[in-house]
Amino acid sequence: MMQSKVMILGIPFDNMTRKEFLKNLNERLNTHQKTFLVTANPEIVMYAKNNKDYYDLLMQADYIAPDGIGIVKASHKLGTPIQERVPGFELMLGLLEIADLEKKNVYFIGAKEETLELTIEKVKNKWPHINIVGYHHGYFDHDDPEMIDRVKNTHPDIVFVAFGFPRQEKWISRYLSQVSHGIAVGVGGSFDVLSGKTKRAPKFVQSFHIEWLYRLIKQPSRYKRMAVLPKFLQEVYKQNKKEKSL
Ligand code: UDP
Repeated sequence: MMQSKVMILGIPFDNMTRKEFLKNLNERLNTHQKTFLVTANPEIVMYAKNNKDYYDLLMQADYIAPDGIGIVKASHKLGTPIQERVPGFELMLGLLEIADLEKKNVYFIGAKEETLELTIEKVKNKWPHINIVGYHHGYFDHDDPEMIDRVKNTHPDIVFVAFGFPRQEKWISRYLSQVSHGIAVGVGGSFDVLSGKTKRAPKFVQSFHIEWLYRLIKQPSRYKRMAVLPKFLQEVYKQNKKEKSL
């Protein structure tokens, strides 16, 4: 039987396709339900495993999307397969599409000033019916409540927050506790990609599921962050063994 939630090292992932995620999100937009969307990759799962506060934040999410092939592989290993990977970047594109069709209010917050400007240009060109209610770069004191007020006052239907984890989820949790409607989602480095500052891997690399390798070669500084992957797989093997011996 297909599970609607799949537990991976304590994180309950929603086992939906990209299309299903977007259908649900669209419905919640139209019914003005407040929504905390998280897209979690192995790094995030491992971070949550070692940080209770961050784990508790993730538990507040309405949806957790399986971001990356590592999560999908783990789900297979655990005998509860997830249907497909749902990259955060693609969810963002889908939401922009919906926002364009339905002329929604969108706020963009995060990334470097220049990157953000380029992102906004791109959005204006590609999705001209989106009502961009505001934008702000991501280099300010994230504990400053003023920024929450600023965003809140523009009444966005969707807020894209690109600070990288765990910063973005912390900010979103505080923001959502003060508003009554809207989707908020942490999109990590997605503005860097959308703006063209960082290139996405070529299609063939994507289809072989070796984007991680491509990124590592392009940006060797990511090595330290990626070192978490083997550890993640090791933990998944351990969880698998434990479950089998019960
Ligand atoms: N970023 C930001 N404010 C910060 C730190 C990072 O807006 O205080 C942005 C950064 O410019 C980039 C995105 O967050 O666009 C993701 O950054 P990074 O790749 O360092 O974070 P990760 O995704 O690795 O957590």
